Amino acid sequence: MTDHDEHSVLETAQMMLVQHPLCDRCLGRQFAWLGTGTSNENRGYSIKLTLCMIADDELKSGSKESGERTFAVLAGNGMFVPAKTIAAKNSIVYEDSNSCHLCFIEGNSIFDRIPNIADRMVGIADQVEFETFLAGSIPSPLLVERQDEMTATYSTLHSETLKSHFNRLVGIQLQELLGKSVDFEKPDVVFVYDMDRDEVELQVNPIFIYGRYRKLVRGIPQSRWDCKKCKGRGCKECEDTGRKYPDSISEYVGIPAQQCAGGSRFKFHAAGREDVDVLMLGKGRPFVVEISKPRVRKPDLLEMTQTINQEAGGKIEVHDLELTDRHRLQKLKEDASSNIKEYAAVIQTEGSVTDEAIQRVIQSFQGVVIEQRTPNRVSHRRSDLVREKKVHEVQITRQEDGVLEAFFKVQGGTYIKELISGDEGRTRPSVAEILGTACLCKELNVTAIYGGEN
Ligand SMILES: [Zn+2]
Ligand SMILES: [Zn+2]
Repeated sequence: MTDHDEHSVLETAQMMLVQHPLCDRCLGRQFAWLGTGTSNENRGYSIKLTLCMIADDELKSGSKESGERTFAVLAGNGMFVPAKTIAAKNSIVYEDSNSCHLCFIEGNSIFDRIPNIADRMVGIADQVEFETFLAGSIPSPLLVERQDEMTATYSTLHSETLKSHFNRLVGIQLQELLGKSVDFEKPDVVFVYDMDRDEVELQVNPIFIYGRYRKLVRGIPQSRWDCKKCKGRGCKECEDTGRKYPDSISEYVGIPAQQCAGGSRFKFHAAGREDVDVLMLGKGRPFVVEISKPRVRKPDLLEMTQTINQEAGGKIEVHDLELTDRHRLQKLKEDASSNIKEYAAVIQTEGSVTDEAIQRVIQSFQGVVIEQRTPNRVSHRRSDLVREKKVHEVQITRQEDGVLEAFFKVQGGTYIKELISGDEGRTRPSVAEILGTACLCKELNVTAIYGGEN
């Protein structure tokens, strides 16, 4: 084939038709980006009609052979009814085709199946609640290959893919039947038609619920913690529970949330985490719970809050629940190491501590950057490296001999227990180092988390 520019739309279309039977929709699709406010079907029909008129003119003005040739193509591969009528009248012989090269599977056009496909999609749509949708498809590889070949052979610059053409038509039909709108960015659900299998499927996108949790009792991990020995299968050590800890914040929040939304599973994401023995007080820690395949997209969040709080029996508490999106989830994770956190701690010191030493600690930690190597106690699950963390403020008061009360305001991701003890020199400077005596964090509570989520 020669350079594309040498051929007009009509010439190209005619060459295509000489080679393959093409329905109006598939012929028009080769020129989908030319002209606007119309359909591919109209494009294809108009091209065929124009070719038909030119051929008729030739027939009537003496170029009989050329005219007859075009009619044979239009009536045969073009499957064009007006051309068939003229061909019959003029006894023009042509080879009848009835299956379009680009859209037929097992004897019929996938476009002709659309009303049936749309009906079946509506049939499975009542399983779930949704406002917006998108029509999608898994195109037949054979048809995709043929379209690609066509585009390559004729160097067409203005053709559309079969998939996009088909999806749009299904989308229009569904829109009418469902009375709901199409959303290309983040649809609630996606209807998918598998062309080769002739199957429809409904993909339900997850919902995301933002909130904050408070942890009021020590000894609860943020996420489910399986027994190390049996890896969750159940053994003597865990009394056949399969777990190291019986409960978790993630389950206290996620299970009722999943039930409220009629989902299939949940994922719990939080802005950082506190240790098992640390309370989360104040306004709580931001989290997002992601619920897969929800039947209800707008659950009653007040009811959800109440259910979570009731079932947790005062161990944890959630508030400020709101529907959000995936974007918020990403932000939550990004914020976790840059936001500011406040802690209250009880510190036990080995030796006695002077007021002067306490003042030295307070002064030393006014807006400084500390270096913290991954603590010994977490080095099995986090890579060993030195992190720089900003300490904004430390306040210390004496409670009784050998016991201090401390307040910390630090960058997210700072290990407070190690900031107190020094972790055998892995955190520098530390409270212990400056006080000049060994220190142990006896009790720790997170009292505030500030950041983008406030
Ligand atoms: Zn076709
Ligand atoms: Zn076990």
